[in-house]
Amino acid sequence: MVLLLALLPGLAMADNAVMEELGTKAAKTAMQDLKVEKGDANLLILTSAGHAIVDGQTTQSALKGLMNVSGNSIGDANLFQVLRPYWKPVWFYFFDKATGEGVFLQANGKALNGSLDEFKALPDDQVFSKISKANVDIDYLANHTDEGNETYSKKAFNGNEGTLIPMSNVWARGGSFEFIQATCFHDHLCPGVTSGLFLAKYVEEKLPITNSSESYKVISCPNWCKEDLLQMRWDATPGKSGMFVMALTDAEKKAVPGIAGIFIRWNDTAKQGDALVLAYNSSSVKNGWKGPDWGSKLATSVALMDYVDSPETFVSTIKEFKVDAGKLALLQNAGMHPLKVAGVL
Ligand SMILES: [Zn+2]
Repeated sequence: MVLLLALLPGLAMADNAVMEELGTKAAKTAMQDLKVEKGDANLLILTSAGHAIVDGQTTQSALKGLMNVSGNSIGDANLFQVLRPYWKPVWFYFFDKATGEGVFLQANGKALNGSLDEFKALPDDQVFSKISKANVDIDYLANHTDEGNETYSKKAFNGNEGTLIPMSNVWARGGSFEFIQATCFHDHLCPGVTSGLFLAKYVEEKLPITNSSESYKVISCPNWCKEDLLQMRWDATPGKSGMFVMALTDAEKKAVPGIAGIFIRWNDTAKQGDALVLAYNSSSVKNGWKGPDWGSKLATSVALMDYVDSPETFVSTIKEFKVDAGKLALLQNAGMHPLKVAGVL
């Protein structure tokens, strides 16, 4: 028993060392392929490391390897952890803003079970079950739709194309740190999660937070991608009663065009708040995309970035009203219809 306990810490350390070496190998291989040096400001790294668990081993140590080799970090806004369920594979993605090229590597879980020395000796094709490269810059893809067809239809990034390609393009065009971070929580960057940013900014302008008793509460009705950005930006999580999520029927959506939900600035000391019922409609935005379907949402996500400072282009107020504790309870409770409580349906 004593012997076993003495061995355990050593085993755990060996596991972490292998995982760190995995990150090291991923960064070395990808950076060689992209011809970028340590500290290159054009390099973005996205990874599921830290969320993925492989054969019972957590994967956060891979981040150390990535950071040591590339010089990228969260602090430099060029390394992000994309949310994935723990049972999905650990992968790494490197994007060079200068060329538009992206390299994707997925770890071969079986390769991670040996000792550090064994792992170090393995060739790339045993360490990774997939290594692939594609140009993902939207302007390039507009003129090379055949390459884009290939990338999307053959799943060049193992099904993560819809995550990695929009994030690369928006990051390259100056997408803010907190926005990219929120899209990582959402799993991907899309026009829907972007609408969350516009709704948030609109609310923040109309109902700014002015003291520590105040917070935002969202009666999310109907829900879509936007909710995930609001949780990150406002810490408005369902677990802390910051958000209540309910779907609407198509008929109900039609009855209140563009309905995006009820947004409340709540004062927890005074037990009262101000509510906005908001609508969202970005159908006026022209994405300029003339190519295949896979580029349409990508192009819209990029085009929407021009409006980050003018959320009123797409967001409008349907109704404003005051909320007290009783009204808040009605808006939140199952069995009540929040849009009826708000008097808009
Ligand atoms: Zn989405």
